[in-house]
Amino acid sequence: MKRKAFISLLLSFLLILPLIMTSCSSSKPGGSSFSPPSNGAGRIAEDSKSSESEDTEKRPENGKVICVDPGHGFRDAGAGAEGHELGPDTNEADVNLAVSKFLKEELERLGYKVYMTHEGEISPDIEQYVSDESYQTFYFDPEERVALINSRNPDYSISLHCNMFNDPSVRGTKLYVFDQSIYTDTPSENVKTAMSIAESLKLVFPDVNEPTIDTQSLALVRDIICNGVLIEMGFVSSPEDAADLIDPEWQKKFARGVANGINEYFFPSGSDAVDSADSSDEPQN
Ligand SMILES: [Zn+2]
Repeated sequence: MKRKAFISLLLSFLLILPLIMTSCSSSKPGGSSFSPPSNGAGRIAEDSKSSESEDTEKRPENGKVICVDPGHGFRDAGAGAEGHELGPDTNEADVNLAVSKFLKEELERLGYKVYMTHEGEISPDIEQYVSDESYQTFYFDPEERVALINSRNPDYSISLHCNMFNDPSVRGTKLYVFDQSIYTDTPSENVKTAMSIAESLKLVFPDVNEPTIDTQSLALVRDIICNGVLIEMGFVSSPEDAADLIDPEWQKKFARGVANGINEYFFPSGSDAVDSADSSDEPQN
């Protein structure tokens, strides 16, 4: 009898074995880990379930590509390599990179595909755009950055920098585009995007002077194949601006202001809630 019981146990195990095998294989990830992002439909359901706070909820991919260029970096410290007010351990390039990383995070949360020109090192994906000479001097040339940006075929490009002036009382944010329509009554889409960013920053920082928009012939706004802006976030020569520029909370707020301004241009909410990330209006395309 014992033997019979064992056989029937073995038989039932053999019967359910295929079921176990099937469920194991179907629980494996369906595709390869580097499969291109789909419309994100699966993730929307996951996100809406798992997200605790609407404020940090990741929105579905919106199909727009943004390039973020942290000015300077590597051996190039940027404005005021010396004589700035950022303190002994920080330079312009550090600030640019820190805010750029926050900006990437914010834009990705809003559903954008984001490329950075660099994240503090010459990584394999950007290597081919860095000339031998730049590689040796560890200086990533503006024209090389432009080539890299253009290779990504973005919808918009943002370079982040800090300003410097010999009068420490001069402070504030300046946005630069390469566009003469800034002086006319019919601003181009390029200028309108910069205006949207400036308006958003004004909402985030109501107590400082309104950001100004100007036109300048700079490679990173002149030679790119898309619309774009170069933002001088503040003056490293101003003690007040410098204190903000090195403050991670300020950096995060600034990044959110820029991201919301871009998003308000591409996907207008039709309300004045530029600063609120909890708008239920999702992009429709
Ligand atoms: Zn700079």
